[in-house]
Amino acid sequence: MKVLKFGGTSVGSAQSLRNVKQIVENCNEHVIVVVSALGGVTNQLLEMTRLACAHDESYQQILQDMRQRHLDVIKEVVAPQLQERCNFIITQFIDDTLSGLYSCLYINHDLPETEIRRLSDSIVAHGEIMSSAIVASLIDGAVPFYSPEVIKTNDIDGKHALNPGLTDQLIKEKLGSIDSKCIVMQGFIAKDTETGDFTNLGRGGSDFTAAIVAAALNAECLEIWTDVDGFMTADPRTHPEATVIPTMTYQQAQAMCDAGAKVIYAPTLRPVAELGIPVWVKNTFNPMAPGTVIR
Ligand code: ASP
Ligand code: MG
Repeated sequence: MKVLKFGGTSVGSAQSLRNVKQIVENCNEHVIVVVSALGGVTNQLLEMTRLACAHDESYQQILQDMRQRHLDVIKEVVAPQLQERCNFIITQFIDDTLSGLYSCLYINHDLPETEIRRLSDSIVAHGEIMSSAIVASLIDGAVPFYSPEVIKTNDIDGKHALNPGLTDQLIKEKLGSIDSKCIVMQGFIAKDTETGDFTNLGRGGSDFTAAIVAAALNAECLEIWTDVDGFMTADPRTHPEATVIPTMTYQQAQAMCDAGAKVIYAPTLRPVAELGIPVWVKNTFNPMAPGTVIR
């Protein structure tokens, strides 16, 4: 079994989603697909929450544009017989976002920080829920799975910290028992162990979700599908001579992440490194390129 994670740009347009479909359907083994929100959507959801909490109605236009973008993508890539159901899911989540934000527009006092954070965590979760609905409808025979059922956090000093023991146990129990060639689930999002409120693993956290799942189920490998050919010797924007690094150790890759390389989210490597699960960094827009393998 392999775990494949697709980032925001990989699921961000009809063209890139066609590549995702092909990459997943070309796999011979069982796969678990972990997805980010459509590129830019997480930022928009956070911005909308900020605007609504400031009693600024302009978030409504952003939300309508977001709805249209998702519906347009569905029209282009999802099989006609599945479109209605997929549109329904998107509309439901957009309406849910709308009512969540609408309520704070007319509260005539400022919400306390903790309330704003709770609202923001629940609104931002909609990005991955919508993208995963699209990807699950796109891939033949895919079974959708709801990540917050297994990815659990605890509040530690006001921050969401992964509850590693419970998460590992739940993934083994609930995800490990599904016998399907392809499962599609959301990256990034989680629920608090005690309150059941939506939480998340931090910006860029979908990589971490994928690593946690790969480790719990002892996957053959973890593939991070992104929009670059792999780890590079230097930033290609400032160093055009930069080349892709074909192989790295976990330590080398971790050092680059800690130094600010944006290719993968820094907490991602630890769970897979502990088990020696190889991590491939591959380009959705250039799938034939060999990528970087970290082992
Ligand atoms: N959608 C989330 C973000 O933009 C998580 C992720 O993409 O990994 O931070
Ligand atoms: Mg990322």
